[in-house]
Amino acid sequence: MQQQGLPNGSKVRNNQHKKFLNQSHICANKQTNKKNAHEKVPNKSDARADLTASLTTSLTGEQQNRSSIIRRRRNRDSMTALGLVLLSMMGYTQHMQQLQPSSVGVEGGARLLSRADWGARVPKSVEHFEGPAPYVIIHHSYMPAACFSTAECMKSMRDMQDFHQLERGWNDIGYSFGIGGDGMIYTGRGFNVIGAHAPKYNDKSVGIVLIGDWRTELPPKQMLDAAKNLIAFGVFKGYIDPAYKLLGHKQVRDTECPGGRLFQEISTWPHFNNSIRFNTTTEQPQKVEPQPQQQHQPKTLPANPKV
Ligand SMILES: [Zn+2]
Repeated sequence: MQQQGLPNGSKVRNNQHKKFLNQSHICANKQTNKKNAHEKVPNKSDARADLTASLTTSLTGEQQNRSSIIRRRRNRDSMTALGLVLLSMMGYTQHMQQLQPSSVGVEGGARLLSRADWGARVPKSVEHFEGPAPYVIIHHSYMPAACFSTAECMKSMRDMQDFHQLERGWNDIGYSFGIGGDGMIYTGRGFNVIGAHAPKYNDKSVGIVLIGDWRTELPPKQMLDAAKNLIAFGVFKGYIDPAYKLLGHKQVRDTECPGGRLFQEISTWPHFNNSIRFNTTTEQPQKVEPQPQQQHQPKTLPANPKV
């Protein structure tokens, strides 16, 4: 079992996992990601090195130009200056050093917590796509239910990773990032890593799950603000296209995710795109069919791109 961080918590993870599996569904449980079902499984050190490299890759000249354009535009974005400062100076520094444990609990604003912070297991494999991502897709988890303390939200992230990685056989937790009711941002696969949250969009989107069931209730303000700040941060850093399209999962998949109330909320956000709608008469859910490893032919960047 490849685990890291939170050694005390890891001792009880198997029981937690069984309990979780006996619970209901989570947002991604009907989804498929054929690529994930048959990806090459590198050893632990390779996966760690690949992931670290992906998160520490410097921006290309084009991206830097894009970032400078974005800086000029950022006043038009909804994020607060406070959120940007906190994310840039605290959260993302941790993100870059994501295998190093870090403390939590700074007051005010959203913080981006690393995988090590929530005790993530290492991914089986990491595949990148070339950014910036043109889509941001919002999910709710349905299960786990909403969490309001950082300890609770960390456990929710571990539960989702268990479900996706152990039960579904995916490389990792399906989402790019998770948002807790505590207002914290939890790194999932991260930016520019192919996800497993929205078929056909996994290699061109950032998938953000707002932990909880948001069919009838609106997520707390700090949670919504954290999601907005994360998106703005991704744009600022060049990981998300400044002209990105914001979608709810239900627009690309036969699902009620991200829940009616949350979907209503994000439909008022900048960049929400109402023109994309899932057509149940022409698009059928893909089957989850693990493929033999030798048939896997990545069509994206190698695991350690030089960009
Ligand atoms: Zn979803």
